[in-house]
Amino acid sequence: MSGLNIKDIYDVVVVGGGPAGLAAALAAKENGAKDVLLLDRNLSLGGILNQCIHNGFGLHIFKEELTGPEYAERFIKQVKATDITALTRAMVLDVSNDRTVRFIHKDAGYATVSGKAVVLAMGCRERTRGAIGIPGARPSGVFTAGSAQLYMNMEGRTIGKRIVVLGSGDIGLIMARRLTLEGAKVLGVFEVLPYSGGLTRNIVQCLEDYGIPLHLSHTISEIRGDKRVEQVVINKVDENRNPIPGTETVIDCDTVLLSVGLIPENELSRNAGLDIDPKTSGPIFYENMETSVPGVFACGNVAQVHDLVDFVSAEAMKAGKFAALYAKSGETKGPSPINVRWGEGVGYVVPQKIRAANVDEKIEVFFRSTAIYKESKVEVRCGDEVLASFKREHLAPGEMEKIALKKDVIEKANGRDITVCVNSTTKQPGSNVKFRTTDAEGRVELVCIVCPTGCRLKVDPSKDFEVTGNTCKRGEEYGKHEIAHPTRVITSTVCISGAELPRMPVKTDTPIPKEKIFDAMKLLDRLEKKGPVNSGEVVVKDICGTGANFVSTRSL
Ligand SMILES: Cc1cc2nc3c(=O)[nH]c(=O)nc-3n(C[C@H](O)[C@H](O)[C@H](O)COP(=O)(O)OP(=O)(O)OC[C@H]3O[C@@H](n4cnc5c(N)ncnc54)[C@H](O)[C@@H]3O)c2cc1C
Repeated sequence: MSGLNIKDIYDVVVVGGGPAGLAAALAAKENGAKDVLLLDRNLSLGGILNQCIHNGFGLHIFKEELTGPEYAERFIKQVKATDITALTRAMVLDVSNDRTVRFIHKDAGYATVSGKAVVLAMGCRERTRGAIGIPGARPSGVFTAGSAQLYMNMEGRTIGKRIVVLGSGDIGLIMARRLTLEGAKVLGVFEVLPYSGGLTRNIVQCLEDYGIPLHLSHTISEIRGDKRVEQVVINKVDENRNPIPGTETVIDCDTVLLSVGLIPENELSRNAGLDIDPKTSGPIFYENMETSVPGVFACGNVAQVHDLVDFVSAEAMKAGKFAALYAKSGETKGPSPINVRWGEGVGYVVPQKIRAANVDEKIEVFFRSTAIYKESKVEVRCGDEVLASFKREHLAPGEMEKIALKKDVIEKANGRDITVCVNSTTKQPGSNVKFRTTDAEGRVELVCIVCPTGCRLKVDPSKDFEVTGNTCKRGEEYGKHEIAHPTRVITSTVCISGAELPRMPVKTDTPIPKEKIFDAMKLLDRLEKKGPVNSGEVVVKDICGTGANFVSTRSL
């Protein structure tokens, strides 16, 4: 089968070469798998991270703020340093429940391989206009946020000039800023829910920074236009998310950007006969990431939609490790699982099944709340008995939560189902959006953006910028700096020739003053680099006299 030397049987076959697949393949190798095959349909490894040129990745795993391509490159380099067979342009067509994997590849043609264990890491896809049924005409100019990101960041195309964004999850917020930096006018971000689905830090650094209005409890009720989008009709919605008649506003625009949710990519999983959780739309999985089909594991966005790639990598390392162990032994210890269910205030919970024999000291359980709660307790119940309780100051559906259950909690359940619930009297149907304000004593109240926690800071300019409300030193520094001299790291792309892609992602190597952002962006307008360029190479020196440089964030 071609000069590619594809074997018939591998210890572990990994489907998908995004951050989940990369980490799973590495962990499989590190845990004794001899032959590992990693398959991805794209031109290069790295998955969705290749188009996520903004920073905000890696705070947990690398303790630094990386861009998507930088985060991916760290894992790709590690994979390349092993004997893992990593094939790009390899589209997996089918995985069967005996772990046979069928794929097509440019050189290999139609290929069939067998995995002693298989890891599914296909990521997710976006909900489209059809999925949410926006009425109206069908002109061009309606994009999902991810496809707009691909056009802009990978291909250097402009998608529109006057833009309305529907959906205030992180992807919508990040794209609103990206479009603004590239010269488009984002007329508003509209959200059907009474709260934003994005991290507060993203509301601050993507919308507040650029004066982009956020309208909660609003939706697009009609798209108008002949060839291209010309107008959208916006309505307020009631508590059932239905447009309220008489609240129509018409906005002239040429583009609609939809950021209305992600769906785990599970056609292969369904065909393989995996049990699917209707709540997550991903496979039901055990504490070791094994699905209902023995020897088939799942991780990353295919298993549950994650906010942070760091948790994707951690979960994938677990899947890779247990896939390698399964490949060696052909079995997973501990046959009788307990079921983990979602109760009041919880939208979903994973893993859905836990086998006590596989838990060393503790097991991490992930969930999302169904509303915004303050000062609540997350309880793990078995019937009426509360087995464990965890305090939380803030829960929001847009933020994935984690609790660590000690082994004795699982043992106490003694084979009975456990339920994860939110116990709170402070459910807040209202908004989680809090922009900067000044209190009666002149202290500025603002949200810290150094990490996803989003602490609420108070800074007192009359007391040498004294900061309160911070939970770490970096938060204190941020608070002082933000009031005196606000700065930001800026990311964008430049034109590159002689490389595998037409655009090269770049970032400022240190934060630059906020007022220089648009001048800095102009420096990139007519720049053209010649490949090859290494990640970290300086592309523009001393941006507008700030001392900061634009550096490449991907080797091309
Ligand atoms: C716009 C956006 C912004 C984000 N911002 C942040 C952020 O600031 N910080 C952060 O930590 N996280 C962020 N995330 C989340 C993070 O990027 C994802 O959680 C992570 O990339 C998921 O990794 P994955 O490997 O599961 O999926 P993906 O990255 O989607 O990778 C899946 C891979 O599987 C391949 N594949 C699928 N089907 C097949 C098939 N049949 N055959 C072969 N290959 C296949 C795909 O080509 C793809 O390469 C963001 C995500 C998006 C979309």
